[in-house]
Amino acid sequence: MKAFAYLGYGTAGWIEKNRPQATGFDAVIRPLAVAPCTSDVHNVEINCLAPNRILGHEGVGEIVEVGQLVRDFKVGDVVAIPPVTPDWRTVPSQLGAHQHCSGLITGQKLSNSEDGLFGEFALIRDVDANCARIPEGVSLEAAVLAADMLNTGLYGAELAEVQPGDTVVVMGIGPVGLMAVAGAKLRGAGRIIAIGSRPHCVDLARFYGATDIVNYKEGNVERQVHTLTEKKGADCVICAGGGDDALGQAVAMARWGGTVGNVNYFTTYGDLPINNVRYGFGMGNKTIRGGECPGGRARMEKLLNLLQYDRVDPTPLITHRFQGLDQVEAAFRLMEAKPPELVKTIVTL
Ligand SMILES: [Zn+2]
Repeated sequence: MKAFAYLGYGTAGWIEKNRPQATGFDAVIRPLAVAPCTSDVHNVEINCLAPNRILGHEGVGEIVEVGQLVRDFKVGDVVAIPPVTPDWRTVPSQLGAHQHCSGLITGQKLSNSEDGLFGEFALIRDVDANCARIPEGVSLEAAVLAADMLNTGLYGAELAEVQPGDTVVVMGIGPVGLMAVAGAKLRGAGRIIAIGSRPHCVDLARFYGATDIVNYKEGNVERQVHTLTEKKGADCVICAGGGDDALGQAVAMARWGGTVGNVNYFTTYGDLPINNVRYGFGMGNKTIRGGECPGGRARMEKLLNLLQYDRVDPTPLITHRFQGLDQVEAAFRLMEAKPPELVKTIVTL
């Protein structure tokens, strides 16, 4: 079969690979819609994958083959696949950290340690435990975006423990940050202050529930948020973007006893201030929680529930649509080039 893969040395391209076979608890799907993620681009750049690893971890597909131990799914079912399809039979999974089932961030196997979704076919491990049937009335596009973007953004709001009426800061209004804005609204936030600058993203942030926009190009974001909140700071800060110093900024913007939820990846990080004499902020009994988005079937079913009952629509994130497997490369190259009007691309197969 034909697939778009990491080739080696910072390059991605097309390969031929054997079609996977479904045995045991696993299934084979034919992807119907997929989306390249910034982490696909990042993983190619930093050469962290095995050569010829098929990329792609955001998608939906039709089941074309099931292993003999699969209970709940059959050929022809259309399913959404979360990026995190862990091994549920490990101790970290039993401890509630399935994202790290066999070590840090090992729960996301698709396109990391196992072949991903950018091919004619893809193997889905433990389909009963990891996939969800797409309900009637939910579009394939919406389900693709729910799998990772809504999942991760909402998780940011969950990690930040957003409570009804809270003042929430969302750092970054790329697709995950925008879904964090939507997630904060879903959890009942009062004021939502979104930090970003790109005009289309600012419009979308307001659409999803931001009440205030802070532009980091107009000065120190901590100071802007402190001014907006009359020096109180926010009850919750969701870190979904920003530079290496973003976590320190997040701590600075949270009120005493407030909570920071981080879903941003850091390659390096700045200091976390216990006490910053200059600006008068610090750790101040603040809670910092961070992590990789949850995976598995139960999580995916709940995300699809949000779509089925019209609680949130992630499809306005889509700025570029493509058609056909061979267009996966064009969508991927667009994510690499990152033009200012880009939020999210999707490829229908
Ligand atoms: Zn992703």
